[in-house]
Amino acid sequence: MGVVFDHHIPAERAWTAPYLLRERLGHLDPEQIIASPSSVSRAISMPPALHRYTQTLPGWVVAAAHRVLTNYDGHADRIWSGGRSAKEIQERFQAFAGVGQKKAAMAVEIIHRHRFAEVSGLEGSDIAFDVHVRRVFLRTGLVEVDDRSLMIQAARELHPERPGALDLPAWLVGRRWCHPGVPNCPGCPLGEVCPKHVERGAAVRGG
Ligand code: SF4
Repeated sequence: MGVVFDHHIPAERAWTAPYLLRERLGHLDPEQIIASPSSVSRAISMPPALHRYTQTLPGWVVAAAHRVLTNYDGHADRIWSGGRSAKEIQERFQAFAGVGQKKAAMAVEIIHRHRFAEVSGLEGSDIAFDVHVRRVFLRTGLVEVDDRSLMIQAARELHPERPGALDLPAWLVGRRWCHPGVPNCPGCPLGEVCPKHVERGAAVRGG
């Protein structure tokens, strides 16, 4: 549910939303969610709203509940449990409404990093094509243009055993130091090695 909510809002807010949704609904039960979409809509919209897109998110949440019920017997953890490969887990997440490459790759990393489940085939993991990751890859010269395939390929070449491992460090550098406007290069841990192609990251937009 956190992956679904993580869309154009700060990560902290997105990942608190499922907890707050459960508080407001009194459950996060897929069958009950499907049975009462209006309750989901009300719970997400009531002030303070759990998301900026109060028209879109309820539909994604109900669709996610439907998918978990029909494909995973009502158990969301079956999306990733059972020693599945990074590639398979990513594809499973991408099958959910509102979840694209960025969020699906991020989900794989979270599952592996926090040991929610054994993830095999980590050489098939990917960085998320996220705004912070993109800015850092461009400014550090890992890629020359803002292109999803090129960035995924660059990560695979840099760290073939686990390309997705580059995701969190790049995201953190982007969020803490490599700001969209003027980056804080003196404080950045990459300051001594980065070629600082600051202008390359200026146009990076999107979720
Ligand atoms: S050194 Fe500067 S340009 Fe390079 S990643 Fe750090 S903040 Fe960004």
